[in-house]
Amino acid sequence: SVRFDLPDARWKVATQLQLQADGSYVAPDLQYLMDSPVELSAFSLRSWKVADQQSEATIHLTLHHQGTEQQFDTFTEKAKAVVAEQQKIFGEYPKFDYGQYVFIADYLPYVDGDGMEHRNSTILTDERSLKAANYAQIETLSHEFFHAWNVERLRPADLEPFDFQRANMSRNLWFAEGVTNYYGKLTLSRTGHFDLPAYLDKAVTALNKVMQSPGRQFFPATGMSEMAPFVDAAVSVDPTNYANSYISYYTYGEVLGLALDLTLRTEFEGLSLDLLMRKLWLEYGKTGRFYTEQDLEQALAALTADPDFAKNFFSRYINGQQLPDFKALFAAMGLTLAPAKPTQAFLTSATLLEQNKQLKVDSNTLIGTPLYQAGVDQGDLLLKLGSYKISSKAQWDKALARYKVGDSAELSFSSRGKTYTTAVTFTADPALALTENKEAGAAQLAKRALWLKAQP
Ligand SMILES: [Zn+2]
Repeated sequence: SVRFDLPDARWKVATQLQLQADGSYVAPDLQYLMDSPVELSAFSLRSWKVADQQSEATIHLTLHHQGTEQQFDTFTEKAKAVVAEQQKIFGEYPKFDYGQYVFIADYLPYVDGDGMEHRNSTILTDERSLKAANYAQIETLSHEFFHAWNVERLRPADLEPFDFQRANMSRNLWFAEGVTNYYGKLTLSRTGHFDLPAYLDKAVTALNKVMQSPGRQFFPATGMSEMAPFVDAAVSVDPTNYANSYISYYTYGEVLGLALDLTLRTEFEGLSLDLLMRKLWLEYGKTGRFYTEQDLEQALAALTADPDFAKNFFSRYINGQQLPDFKALFAAMGLTLAPAKPTQAFLTSATLLEQNKQLKVDSNTLIGTPLYQAGVDQGDLLLKLGSYKISSKAQWDKALARYKVGDSAELSFSSRGKTYTTAVTFTADPALALTENKEAGAAQLAKRALWLKAQP
């Protein structure tokens, strides 16, 4: 047991640890103690009761910030809506230890932004105030609360038993983190925090990342999951080529969650990813059984009563590196996926940085883009495009605007002290936009509402 001596009478304790009658806090074992963040501060508190068929619990939202109580009230309403909407997906709340769950939020200029899930608690930090972020902190809150089911209890077998002395590699992080990312955002469409354009923008941002990243040709989502020990808060001293070889399993998994949800809603009457989550919850999360990759596929086979569908979905998209036809999937929801700038000449999506009146390529050029094919690499200087001398981003954009898709031009660049001149051919900007199809029929609109609106 632990006891906290508070230096100030206004300070309080926020933690998932169990409070004893003598004022001490108890953890059943060392791992539970290590999983229990504690905040000691003069935080503000809102608490509310939630209930399902079998149990009642109290949700505490503690907030240490410099904003107003009114802003905290607005944020609390958003949090309440998230908690209620996510319960509908699983049909019940997890059985929180000691009947309580604690959000520990710190929105202060001197913190580093992050979110970390714990068994009956989460730490939420952001350097922006609620007002400055326009309550965007609700996105992390939504993601982390979903973890109370997915990861904290519905847990991949390859993360267990957790080994504190070595990296714990899992092939299922695309599901554990990625599907959580998908639902973190989808929940906010259902609560009304995101209007339709805002949600579509979130969805297409993730989709653009996955579709345009060359990483998909090297590893599937399961392989990306195994990269966690190298990329999740890991530091590399040497430059890496992750921009070309890696896609975050958060983003990849989010897109696969979207793919599976839309495929189920399109191909199987009455089915959705919500129902798969609920099935997995009842069979694994609730009973404390850990799931394997095969269990996920088998649950999908059982839900759809179509083992071939499940087998194909997993072999193509989860263990394979294909993506489904998103254009058709979105069309079924009355949405249009199309090139964002179809006529804009394109050479690179790399970061270009102005430095000492020179334009430097400041990130990896991506495999397949014209700049990569021209041999331009990170750190190189772009000198001349056609007859246009380049010394700023504005000049580069201006030069680019003179060309059409399919045109060619000479590009001069400096790499490791040598100057090269080579021909480049402009392609179309690959970025996609996702918009509402105003001519969508009643059936499509009804499908879309079932997906994106508050659930019954
Ligand atoms: Zn997470």
